[in-house]
Order: sequence, then structure tokens, then C-alpha cells
Amino acid sequence: MEPLLQVRELKKYFPVRSILGRKKQFVKAVHNISFTLYEGEVYGLVGESGCGKSTTGRTILRLTDPTSGEGVFQGRDLFKFSNREMQAVRKDMQMVFQDPYSSLNPRKRVGKAIEEPMAIHNIGQNQRERTEMTMELLNKVGFSMDHYYRFPHEFSGGQRQRIGLARALAVNPKLIICDEPVSALDVSIQSQIINLLEDVKDQFHLTYLFIAHDLSVVRHISDRIGVMYLGNLVEEAQTDELFSNPKHPYTKALISSIPVANPKRARERIQLKGEIPSPLNPPKGCVFHTRCPYVMEICKTVAPVKKNVTSQHSVACYLYDS
Ligand code: SF4
Ligand code: MG
Repeated sequence: MEPLLQVRELKKYFPVRSILGRKKQFVKAVHNISFTLYEGEVYGLVGESGCGKSTTGRTILRLTDPTSGEGVFQGRDLFKFSNREMQAVRKDMQMVFQDPYSSLNPRKRVGKAIEEPMAIHNIGQNQRERTEMTMELLNKVGFSMDHYYRFPHEFSGGQRQRIGLARALAVNPKLIICDEPVSALDVSIQSQIINLLEDVKDQFHLTYLFIAHDLSVVRHISDRIGVMYLGNLVEEAQTDELFSNPKHPYTKALISSIPVANPKRARERIQLKGEIPSPLNPPKGCVFHTRCPYVMEICKTVAPVKKNVTSQHSVACYLYDS
């Protein structure tokens, strides 16, 4: 498989004004993360809220500019693009948000909302053709033609998410960044949306970066998974490998907290002590050391670097040195 997107040493710090004095402070939202998305795969990015997953997605789309690093998309570094060049690339990269309602204009009929990006990117010969394409897209995500004329408030959360997906598909993108696309939905609706995402992925030859805090949601759809903690990518592996052979203590804790149907097969729950530290002042050394059951002296001062466990499984933790 060819790499579609290579994120290298991505860093995103947000400046904040400190209350005391003039010293500039930074929220270290994303700290030197690297990963590759291959064409046609689903890469799950998982971690608790505030770990930097959404910021990573938004930075790739340049909804916010990176502090440093590279984002090589189809051979060119997005992070060096002008706004105009970026505008053209956005046709190839779309985002589906957690709350589609906030990205839909309440006064605009949903058909028009789907059509809008087509017009911006000169897709279709004319208005009539775009309307026909929109009707077809509505059909692909499970609606009939008369839904074209309805307004966002006439739809449920799950239906709005399908409209958000149709709008992302309208420009025929290569990559869709799905940022917690099912987190706001009832569990019964979640699987419908996941199944739909899988269906359209094959039909439209898409690649997904699938962001979620819920490891069980990511598990279902992802080929590979990256685990983030406090702005750092701490482990990465193929989905089955990650679940059967987790290495990082944080990954182990996340997996142990997934409820299982059969209590006999329940794993022992690993309870992490304390809260996630503030990204304003992340711990020195290994960012996880304040909560790690296996913390050693070196963990408190020097950050571990990512090492390969196998060719497709890497982890940043001193327990796996040598
Ligand atoms: Fe725990 Fe140390 Fe590994 Fe960090 S490097 S996860 S503190 S054992
Ligand atoms: Mg988020």
C-alpha cells in the first residue's frame, strides 16, 4: 500500500497568556507525533478527551496551523501550502464532525448544503447536474429525494451525521477525517453509522483517520490504531495485535476498561491513579509517569523514544528497551 499521508514530528502548541507576570505559556496539545496513513486503510486515533487527537486532525486539514512538523499528503508537504493551495487540497480531504448540527446552516435546505462544496470546487457541469448528484448522494446515505428539501432541524442526530457524511462525499475526497463521528449518538445508532462509513469507504475508495475516545468503537472499524496520551503517540499497532498484545501501560489500562459481555472473560480492570495532568505543564520525562503503575526513576526525567516491538508495532516505554 502507498502512503497517502505522512505526519512527521507534528507539534501544535497554543499560546496562552499567564495570569501572573508576562511569561508566555503554551498548551502543548500535540507533541512530536509521527504516523502514516496508507491508501485505503482506516487508522484509528484513540485517547481520552484533551489528548490532542482532534487537534491533530484539525492541523492536518489546516483548520489550525501547526507549530512545526511535516504533513506530506500525496508527496507534498501540506504545512508549507499557502491558503490558496490549501483550498484546492481541501477537495481531497474532508472532515466529519462529532456534532454535524453545528456545521449545518439551520436556514439552508440540506440538499443545498450538500451541493455547496460541489459548486466551490467546480464539480458538475451546472446546477442541474449538481442537484442530480446530490440526490444520488442522499440515496447512498439512506435518504429519499424529498429529503433534499428539508431543513437540518427536521432530522435526528444520526440522520444529521449521514447528511454530514454526504456533504463530505460531495467533493469526492481521498481522505476523510472522522472526529468522534458517533460519540454523540445512541449506541443503537452508532453501529448504523459505522456500517455506513464502512460501506461508503469501499464505494468511494476512501482512507479514514478515525478519531475517538472509545477504544471499542475504534476497534470495529480500524485496520491500525495509534494511542495518544497528553499530546504524545505512545503506542501504534494493527488492531488485532494491539488488543491481543498491548504493551504500553496506558493502552493496557484503556483495554481493561472496556466492558465485556461475558463476566468470565472479563480482564482485571487496571485503575489508573490520579487525573490527566494539564497540557499547560505536562510531566517531564515520560508524560505518563505520574499515573504509571510501573514508573522507574529514569521515566521521571528522560522521555522514552518510540521503539519497534515488531515491524508494525511500536511503543514508547522503558519497559521494552533492549
Ligand atoms: Fe511507565 Fe516508565 Fe513506561 Fe512511562 S516509560 S509508561 S512511566 S514504565
Ligand atoms: Mg476531540
